[in-house]
Amino acid sequence: MKRIYYDDAMRAIAVEAGATVGETFRTLFDSWGVVVPLGEFPEIGMGGHVVGGAFGFLCRQLGLAADHLYAVEVVTVDREGHAASVVATREATDPNRDLWWAHTGGGGGNFGIVTRHWFRSVDATGDDPAKLLPRAPDSITTFQAEWNWSEIDQSAFLRLLRNHGSWCERNSSADSPGASLFSLLEIHRRQFGKIFIRGLSTAGAGAEGQIDEHLAALRKGIGAPSGRRVEQMSWLDFALNPMPELFTMPPGGVSVKVKDALLRKRFTDRQIGVAFDHLTRTDHDVMGGVLGLATYGGRVNSVARGATASVHRGAILDTACNTGWIEPQDAAKNLAWVRAFFGELFGDTGGVPVPGDAYEGSLINHPDTDYADLSLNRSGVPWYALYYNENYPLLQEIKARWDPRDVFRHALSIRLPQARPLTRPGPA
Ligand SMILES: Cc1cc2nc3c(=O)[nH]c(=O)nc-3n(C[C@H](O)[C@H](O)[C@H](O)COP(=O)(O)OP(=O)(O)OC[C@H]3O[C@@H](n4cnc5c(N)ncnc54)[C@H](O)[C@@H]3O)c2cc1C
Repeated sequence: MKRIYYDDAMRAIAVEAGATVGETFRTLFDSWGVVVPLGEFPEIGMGGHVVGGAFGFLCRQLGLAADHLYAVEVVTVDREGHAASVVATREATDPNRDLWWAHTGGGGGNFGIVTRHWFRSVDATGDDPAKLLPRAPDSITTFQAEWNWSEIDQSAFLRLLRNHGSWCERNSSADSPGASLFSLLEIHRRQFGKIFIRGLSTAGAGAEGQIDEHLAALRKGIGAPSGRRVEQMSWLDFALNPMPELFTMPPGGVSVKVKDALLRKRFTDRQIGVAFDHLTRTDHDVMGGVLGLATYGGRVNSVARGATASVHRGAILDTACNTGWIEPQDAAKNLAWVRAFFGELFGDTGGVPVPGDAYEGSLINHPDTDYADLSLNRSGVPWYALYYNENYPLLQEIKARWDPRDVFRHALSIRLPQARPLTRPGPA
């Protein structure tokens, strides 16, 4: 199930669920010069990706991948246990429209097995496949620079995170020229030695100026980063091997824990102090520990909260406390560090990013079973509100219609309306 083709009858580009993100980027680009703003790692499978909303390097300019989803084909199981293949579109007259809506952010493993997607942007007209989705960037400009931890004391760290957060606050509205820049501030633990800033701009001839402005804003009041590298390349070359330093796995792979949070505002000075402490303290030996702060918002925030199942439409930063390890015996110390760090960062709201003035919750494409563990989520706000907020009751109704036997379920799957929320302790 890897075919990708133009479907005349649907006036949309069909992508079967077994294709990867990389395969989809390649065919869309080679065949029609277009792009769907999919995720950042080419080996992700489309089947479980788009249904979770799907953000990526281009989301500030183009929105979420799910914002361009016209239809899905899903194998569902009815009350009698019979399977059937259903097509659901976003057409207002489609009796199955609710199933399409659920697949624009409801998350994988909830309603059925997705076998095919059709993509067409909401405002697209005509039947030329090259005009039904956004044009892929003509070229992109990538950048990278780094600070050595040896040059960053606590006050420089505070400046850096304030600078970065303030830049995001100023440059994340849908019509901001800054929306054509994506950056990731990647702050490894001090024992690793480095802090990286990486990113890309699609501002064409203005890209290098935009990158310089971004780096200048970040370094205000602290030393300039070293190792500045700026490179121009085709969109496809980048998308098929983005930021290799970030995604290259050792043979045999790694175990990771990702604790993700969407921020509506930059971190407070208290939170920056917590980050400094957990990234520098020496009573933990966690080489793989890292805090990531990625730009977010832009066009993502131009869509209404209920228009798709992806409710988070006010964030300007996607942040994650991550750690990775190779040997199973290292799991416990890594998990202890990352849970303590995240819990203290969001300590004012019970250890999790409760949706409100400062936070938006978390993305279901980065699921975290800790949210269902009441010793780690002390907010009184259930895990499903962090992922879906006010869209959850409708998702439950859709679940009841399309998966009444709860065939598709996992630790964070949408519960049938009458079921009690599951709050068992979460494994890693
Ligand atoms: C290195 C890496 C980078 C990532 N970067 C991003 C990113 O930039 N943006 C982003 O949005 N996400 C990102 N993700 C998260 C990714 O989108 C999710 O893990 C997604 O669920 C992966 O889908 P999959 O089909 O590959 O995964 P799987 O692990 O196979 O499935 C994940 C979930 O989806 C369900 N599922 C799988 N296939 C189907 C199907 N056909 N129909 C219905 N349910 C299905 C599974 O049951 C499971 O619940 C990243 C993940 C990794 C590992």
